[in-house]
Amino acid sequence: MLVNPRCSTVLLGYVNHQGNRAIVVDEPGVTRDRLYGRSYWGDQEFMVIDTGGVITLSKSQAGVMEELAVTTTVGMDGIPLATREAAIARMPSMIEKQAVAAVEEAAVILFVVDGQAGIVAADIEISDWLRRNYSEKCVILAVNKCESPQKGQMQALDFWSLGFSPLPISAIIGTGTGDLLDLVCLELKKTEGLDGIEEEENKVPAIAFVGRPNVGKSSILNALVGEDRTIVSPVSGTTRDAIDTEFTAADGEKYKLIDTAGIRPRAAVISAGSTTGSLSVKRAFRAIRRSDVVALVIEAMACITEQDYKVAERIEKEGKACVIVVNKWDTIPNKNHESTTHYEQDVREKLRILDWAPIVYCSATNGTSVEKIISAAALVEKERSRRLGTSILNQVVREAIAFKPPPRTRGGKRGCVYCTTQAAVGPPTFVLFVNDAKLFSDTYRRYMEKKLRSDAGFPGTPIRLLWRSRR
Ligand code: GDP
Repeated sequence: MLVNPRCSTVLLGYVNHQGNRAIVVDEPGVTRDRLYGRSYWGDQEFMVIDTGGVITLSKSQAGVMEELAVTTTVGMDGIPLATREAAIARMPSMIEKQAVAAVEEAAVILFVVDGQAGIVAADIEISDWLRRNYSEKCVILAVNKCESPQKGQMQALDFWSLGFSPLPISAIIGTGTGDLLDLVCLELKKTEGLDGIEEEENKVPAIAFVGRPNVGKSSILNALVGEDRTIVSPVSGTTRDAIDTEFTAADGEKYKLIDTAGIRPRAAVISAGSTTGSLSVKRAFRAIRRSDVVALVIEAMACITEQDYKVAERIEKEGKACVIVVNKWDTIPNKNHESTTHYEQDVREKLRILDWAPIVYCSATNGTSVEKIISAAALVEKERSRRLGTSILNQVVREAIAFKPPPRTRGGKRGCVYCTTQAAVGPPTFVLFVNDAKLFSDTYRRYMEKKLRSDAGFPGTPIRLLWRSRR
């Protein structure tokens, strides 16, 4: 599977007729069902989510989508609501919200038209919408129902006026579908750079330093980088802008360090007239989005606040790896082993949502343990992009079920897991194909996540378990 660098949890691909198709039900709140499937083309393997149609198509076109089952790529974590709502506001009425969400995050958009019907008004509207809003994305225009090669070329020619190069295909007899797949693969690779794997290997992990003002984010960065790269001041909120710094660790590994402005308590944000304060909150959230790992900095002597918790929630929601950094450790008097244990208990209690994140205790002032933040970040970043072998994964799940089977419902039904696959990395995302997702309670789902963590690791990164009913 290729991973789109612009979208951390994106599934790419194509379900072809011969590929394994597994039909699954949708997440609550999503209007359409999706198809998940593993597919191959040449030496490329793809995991796919089919949104069940990019657009609300006319009946014949919907049929084509069924036949061809071509998909856009779909991220599993949400896109910014504002972006989505703006896009929804711009979209023509016939395009579904669900489709907008898919197109927003897609690496390649496949726009299927009916070659026998010729251009219809909906095609023009959709192509205008795509060109207006998604000019930076690759749109492949597939002209279906072009059964005859010669006639098909002529049929496809008509569609040039939509502004994309038309590719004649026939979903029923397979004409042109190989070329279409080649093109899809090529375009997917392009979005990854020339070679997706190489790109992945060369990608410099980004570590965002976030936390309330004055906890010592800039001081930590200065201690790491070894120069006064941002103004450090005892006045709360002095460092306002997010600053990116290239950093080479002692072992030669490169990182991008993202320094953010302090996150003010909400009250302060409101009283500050929502200028610099609210901007800095937004910047911090943006920095989290841009990052692979978040170093959540808290101050040893200060309490963990609601604001810290909100940031923690955001980190989890965005699926980012995390290291909790307890700075100003030098200010704790008479430290011993117990102070660390005691402090850790407090942090775990108050930041339960990040119970998987390692804690680093450091002092930016005297430089103690600051480099541990980088080594911890490197570790959690690896975990976030780790792929677990299918057989190991299934073994872990099988053993978890054997140890504690899902309880029977009152009606005597019992949940049953057929198979499990890792659908994505960044964060690791597992799809459990089951008889009926409703038969697995929240408690059982939490148990399974815990089991997966205890048996297969993944420290420092959120993991996602998706339960899909087979129909
Ligand atoms: P930021 O707003 O989170 O970027 O915090 P700064 O880096 O600007 O630091 C705020 C204040 O805390 C400055 O006066 C720093 O000298 C001080 N400070 C930062 N790190 C430490 C530390 O490890 N120990 C102590 N004692 N003071 C620190």
